[in-house]
Amino acid sequence: MPSTGGRRASATDAAILEIVRRRSETSRVEISRELGVTPATVTYAVKRLLAAGLLREAGFAQSNGGKRASLLRVNDQARWAIGCTIDADRLSLAGVDLTGALRARIAVPLAPSPTPTQIGEALRRALSMIRPETQAHSATGLGIAIPYGIGAEGPDLLREITEGLGIPVISANSPACAALGSYWSGEQPESGLCATVHMDAGLGLSILQDGRPLQPGPGSSSTLDHVSIDPDGPPCECGGSGCLHQYASARAIIAHASRLDGLARDLGLLLTDSSLSSDIVLIALAAARGEGRARDVLVTALEAVAQAVWSATSALGIRAVVLSGPGLQAAPVLVGETMDRLFTARARNLGAEVAVSVSQVQPHPCAVGAAVLALQTFMTPGHPSRSEPTGGASLTGKVG
Ligand SMILES: [Zn+2]
Repeated sequence: MPSTGGRRASATDAAILEIVRRRSETSRVEISRELGVTPATVTYAVKRLLAAGLLREAGFAQSNGGKRASLLRVNDQARWAIGCTIDADRLSLAGVDLTGALRARIAVPLAPSPTPTQIGEALRRALSMIRPETQAHSATGLGIAIPYGIGAEGPDLLREITEGLGIPVISANSPACAALGSYWSGEQPESGLCATVHMDAGLGLSILQDGRPLQPGPGSSSTLDHVSIDPDGPPCECGGSGCLHQYASARAIIAHASRLDGLARDLGLLLTDSSLSSDIVLIALAAARGEGRARDVLVTALEAVAQAVWSATSALGIRAVVLSGPGLQAAPVLVGETMDRLFTARARNLGAEVAVSVSQVQPHPCAVGAAVLALQTFMTPGHPSRSEPTGGASLTGKVG
């Protein structure tokens, strides 16, 4: 374990890298001003980052009379990390470098209802295929987005599937990963509060403040599932009634579609546990191209989502909302229109401007975000470069 001083240095290093990455080029003076730390602290940290090869000198700024400031850039060749998402039917991996650029991507299929051993084997196969593409530098770490519904079993499952990989591993829940992926891709405001609503098998919420997750860890609840949208709705296991998951979870959307005459057949829905995400995407794509029944199904769910997101975020003064997840990203225009009508307009009636957008990060904001998490955690010189798999590692504990 690094000492407290080491952790603080690691946090400073990570913050400096983040500023340089966002500005693409900046000076020590600018960094010190933005971070609110002394120039000496910045000079010392930059020396460390240059020595580690994470930053490089990039010439001089134009003179404004005085001495010209030397500029810094992120060394995009220095490090890359891999992010992994575990869907019902596949593993998706994304290799991301320090500038946030996608270096490699791969997806490998999973057997129906895979055991942890089978997931582990698929992960090894995927890693052996993704690694040679960037042979020059081996990956700094592996981030894993914990899928919805794993919760308490997460740490054990992760230990099993990552055992003996020989690469440092960190994990976080998929909404937090989606938020980080979206933030790193420049979709979210640099500062302030931004909510990411992530729809996979469940409906997750992750709030970033200045790019850092507010929620403590993967085991903590960050779900919109039990936000009540209809007090007169059906009773829910939580003791309330009319909870969001009863209207807008993947299962609820697919159940709604399968009740409509012939729709499931026309769209080729498989209606199995492992086809949950592909069925949702088929419904969303049909809705996006104007298929009336699919559109009704999706809009009904989106109306419920808009109401729940309003309940969950309006009290916090959040000014930006990003929606992510395969089903939402497959119908961005329809999702945007529905949110404008039911969410943005409501804020505007109260004199507030809230920007709502649909993530465009491909292949998977969660995979990109999981890679970002691994980069942030393992790349800075103040942090040990190798560690044991950390199944239930918390974001706040690991990201400086
Ligand atoms: Zn409930």
